[in-house]
This record gives sequence, C-alpha cells and structure tokens, in this order.
Amino acid sequence: MTLSRRLFLSMLMAGTAFPARAAEPDVVIVGAGVAGLAAARSLMAANKSVLVVEARERIGGRAVTDSTTFGFPFDLGAQWIEAGRSNPAMAILREMNVRPVPDRLEQAIYIGGTEAPKEEYARFEKIAIDASRKLVEALRKAPDVPVGRVLVAQDPLERLAYAMVGPLESGVELGELSARDFMRQPETEPQYSVAEGLGALVARWGAKVPVKLGARVVRIDSTSAQVLVVTTNGQLSAKAVIVTVPTGVLAAGPFGFAPQLGAARREAIAQLPMALYNKIALSFGRKVIDAPAGRSVIGLTRKDQAFDAIVRPYDRDAAVVFVGGEQARQLEEEGTGAALGFAMSALAEIYGNELRGLLARSSITRWGKDPFARGSWSMATPGNADKRLVLAQPHHDRVFFAGEATDPVWATRVGGAYASGVRAAREALAVLGKK
Ligand SMILES: Cc1cc2nc3c(=O)[nH]c(=O)nc-3n(C[C@H](O)[C@H](O)[C@H](O)COP(=O)(O)OP(=O)(O)OC[C@H]3O[C@@H](n4cnc5c(N)ncnc54)[C@H](O)[C@@H]3O)c2cc1C
Repeated sequence: MTLSRRLFLSMLMAGTAFPARAAEPDVVIVGAGVAGLAAARSLMAANKSVLVVEARERIGGRAVTDSTTFGFPFDLGAQWIEAGRSNPAMAILREMNVRPVPDRLEQAIYIGGTEAPKEEYARFEKIAIDASRKLVEALRKAPDVPVGRVLVAQDPLERLAYAMVGPLESGVELGELSARDFMRQPETEPQYSVAEGLGALVARWGAKVPVKLGARVVRIDSTSAQVLVVTTNGQLSAKAVIVTVPTGVLAAGPFGFAPQLGAARREAIAQLPMALYNKIALSFGRKVIDAPAGRSVIGLTRKDQAFDAIVRPYDRDAAVVFVGGEQARQLEEEGTGAALGFAMSALAEIYGNELRGLLARSSITRWGKDPFARGSWSMATPGNADKRLVLAQPHHDRVFFAGEATDPVWATRVGGAYASGVRAAREALAVLGKK
C-alpha cells in the first residue's frame, strides 16, 4: 500500500498536535520563560491543570545557558540576580536548593588601551553618585525626562560612566532612556550568579512543568465561554490564558486577539519597546590575558567606543564582551564577523595583539534577530514608565498578561518575570474560583 502525501501529512500533524487531554487544561500559558514557568508552578501548586505553549524547542526563553562550547557555562541571556536580598527570582534558588555565588568582580578602567590612573577611579565613582543625584533631582521637578537631557558628558570618563547607564546597562541610548523607568530599578547589590549558569538552573526548575514545545501561538480568542488558543501546531482551549511573550513579539506579530486589544494596551506595547544588549564570548588557545579570574574591564577604545567585558571567566582563557544600544544594533546588522572584530580589537588594545592569532572558539548572541524575543528586555520610552501597569491589566476578564515588561519594579530582569508570573497565576486563580 502506498501512503499519499496528504495522508502522510495529516498523520504527521495528528502526531504532533495536542493530545485530547492536554487540549482542555484549566489554564494555558503562552511562553515557557521564567514568567510562564513561575505562573505554571504556582497554578500547579494550587492543583490546577496547566499547559505551557512554547514556540521554541526548549524552555527558559531569555534565560539560557550554553554549557558545551567553552567548557564553562556561558549564559547567553540572563546571568545575574541583582539586589539579591529582595529580588523575587531568588525564590528559584531556594526552591531548587541552590547556593547563590556572590559576585566579587574587581573592576578595571582602561582608556585607549591604558589603565586609568588611581585618581580617575575615585572620580569615576563620584560621577556615578552625581549622576544618580542629578536624575533624582530631575524627577523631583518633572514626572519624567530622557536621561540624555540630564546626563551630558563633558569628558571621556563621564562618557564612559554614562554609557554604563545607557547602552551598556539599559540597552538603549541615553536620549531614548526614561529617567523614571531607569530609576525605578532597585540597587544592584548584592549580585549573585549560580555555578551551573542561570539558564541551566531555570531549565531544571521548569523541567516538571507540562510544556508543548515548537508551537507558536498566533491568536487568542476569548469571545466564547472557553478561551481558544490558536497555534501553528493545532489549537486548544482553557478557562483562562496567561500571555508572557516579550513586548517585541506582541508588537511584531503575528499575534492576534479577539476581541482586539484596547487602544491603551496597544499604546503600552508600543511605548515599551525592546532594548538591545548582546554578548560576544571568546576563548583562546592558551593564556593571553594577564588578569585575575573574572575581572570586569570597562573603558573606551582608541576609537572612543565604550566597552564592558569580563575577562578570564571561571579562570579560563576566555572573555565575554558586552555591547548594547545602537552599537549592538549595528553589529547585528553587519554580522558576526563585525561583532567578533570589535571584541578582539577592544581586548587586543589592552592585552596585546598576540591574542588575535589565538582565538579558539566564539559565540555571539543576536537577541534582536531572535523572532521569539526581538530584543533583550523592555525599556520604557521617556514619559511612559507607568505603561507597565497598563500592560499588566487583564484583557477581557480571562486573558492575563505577565512577563518582565509588566512588573512595575523588577521589569527588564528575571525578578520581574518571576514576580509577574506569580501575580498572573493569582489573577487566573481568582477567575477559576468564581467559576
Ligand atoms: C543578553 C541578556 C542579558 C540579560 N541579563 C540579565 C541578567 O543578568 N539578570 C537579569 O535579571 N535579567 C537579565 N536579562 C533579562 C532576562 O533574561 C529577562 O528579563 C527574563 O528572562 C524574561 O523572562 P520572561 O519570561 O518575561 O520572557 P521570556 O524569557 O522571553 O519568555 C517568553 C517565552 O515566550 C516564547 N514565545 C515568544 N513568542 C511566542 C509565541 N508566539 N508563541 C509561543 N511562545 C512564544 C519565547 O520563546 C519565550 O520562551 C538579560 C537578557 C538578555 C537578552
């Protein structure tokens, strides 16, 4: 007997579509990042049935560790848990019984390939303190202001310090950065990582959550009694739905809602665009970087480009160079060769040209080109920090929104993703309770 192409395809589709039982959980969660997994775990703890629908072939979203390329864990996305005393994401470590590794990064400053003199270190600290004071004052006078209007660099050291606020910390240029959204963020200290890599920990933490991988949601229809979730791989329905995809995905589509999202929420999505921050990781054939393990190096290159790197991570012959904002966007456009070139030049200026011939491996992230992220995290445009609360509102009673972008305090970070997932699960539970 021959199998027709049509029959073959329909059998194939049936094999991959949702099994009958999974198709009617209490809650469907869209996206298996930290927010989606936190929501799922909360609902499961309350004895509700859940199914997470994930477009990628893995869980973790923007928290993902490459454990094979370098022989040490390289977090392609989130690595640090900042403000460890109050960060909601510390719950992941507690739940998994994992010890936080305190960040003891020693920081060195280089301008044009030469280490800055001692006095400049003290001045750099003062610039940071003054910058914070200026932003607080500006926010006392106005509800919001672009950071670039308050922090105007007068010399190279200030330019470097302000780059550490804009592109190299927030992933956007100072002129596009909302002072209110930036200052909402909690202090970064103490900062922790985990030995296996944060992405690897998130993958273990979420391993027991039921997830349908490789199913991209394109439409959510809440016009009937059950909420219908349409994916590229079949459809399913639930009593409630939690949407955790990044704002970049909501803005770019295809991702439709019936009834349509209200104008206020559409505006919130537009005003919480994705910032861009990438990592360029390199390893070398032998020891060419003469520095203590895990040293943080920041500076300005001879071409006056700000850079930020960690050299000798895990005491290996390696380095991770960070790029953000316009420069990151440009390097993504130019391709991985350009990104590699920038990182190698910045390091060669400091540690010598010898390292150019010793590159062993490299890995370069391109979060802006990633169709399921479309950037690194959400950053409010000036005047729109409060739009996070608009985005967090339920849509049509049974569709809830979570994800880092929706958290008023911890947005942009895994802490925001975690807290928002728990919050959305609580909202969904309230609706299920009413039924
Ligand atoms: C380079 C980089 C460095 C970072 N560093 C840090 C750090 O050190 N510390 C920190 O706290 N934070 C950091 N972050 C931010 C942190 O990674 C995010 O805030 C957090 O992981 C977001 O989690 P989330 O669940 O909200 O979103 P995501 O992790 O993006 O989860 C959303 C999920 O939805 C899926 N999805 C998208 N579209 C669809 C669709 N149509 N259908 C189905 N599924 C879909 C995605 O594949 C994804 O898995 C970093 C991010 C990047 C990119």
